[in-house]
Amino acid sequence: MNNKITIAIDGYSSSGKSTMAKRLAAEIGYRYIDSGAMYRAVTLFAMQHNMISQSGTPDKDKIIAALPDIKINFQIQDGTQSTILNGVNVEKEIRQMAVSNNVSPVAAIPEVRHCLVAMQQAFGKEKGIVMDGRDIGTTVFPNAELKIFVKASAETRAQRRFKELIEKGSRASYAEVLANVVHRDHLDETREESPLRQAEDAILLDNSNMSLEEQNAWMLERYKEACSK
Ligand code: C5P
Repeated sequence: MNNKITIAIDGYSSSGKSTMAKRLAAEIGYRYIDSGAMYRAVTLFAMQHNMISQSGTPDKDKIIAALPDIKINFQIQDGTQSTILNGVNVEKEIRQMAVSNNVSPVAAIPEVRHCLVAMQQAFGKEKGIVMDGRDIGTTVFPNAELKIFVKASAETRAQRRFKELIEKGSRASYAEVLANVVHRDHLDETREESPLRQAEDAILLDNSNMSLEEQNAWMLERYKEACSK
């Protein structure tokens, strides 16, 4: 197929959208961008520079002033994609609970969103991209040819995330992960600036009871359908 399209995959925290997006991109030879990693990288930068209080309140003015100093890139090594913040590979650090606990208030700052949305749109200028996040189909690429919105029960999502963290050697508890998932969803859904919501023309996928193989096959079918339109 010659005509490359734009694929937007949005949904709730830990719904498995990144795994599906990555697999689809690899299969069809598209670029994959994890927009959540970009919000996490800004949050890590803010934490490293004492711009977030102990209680988790971000210092908006300081973060906005620092935006020009925050450079985010992605690097592919041995088939795995890593997030690079100002030249440093921060892929592991941005997945820690400390970052998960602070990211949503940072992502709610309109100036942070404007800055990252512009970067995301630049990544997608040539199409041939799969991007996952919360506002890709609604704000970043409202004209994307294929939009998917992924959901699953909070318990299923927390269980998946917990397993992933434990496998990576983290000591998080299931209760802590579940609380974080629920809290983040709430903040993401209720923020003023481009809140998490399903785009009107997005296809809904509830993957609570689907295996990875089933999800990947489902995605590939949607991609083929979108290309044949
Ligand atoms: O996708 P992930 O869970 O890594 O995203 C981390 C956080 O970044 C989300 O909880 C949300 O607050 C924010 N985010 C966002 N818009 C996006 C992607 C992520 O607000 N497009």
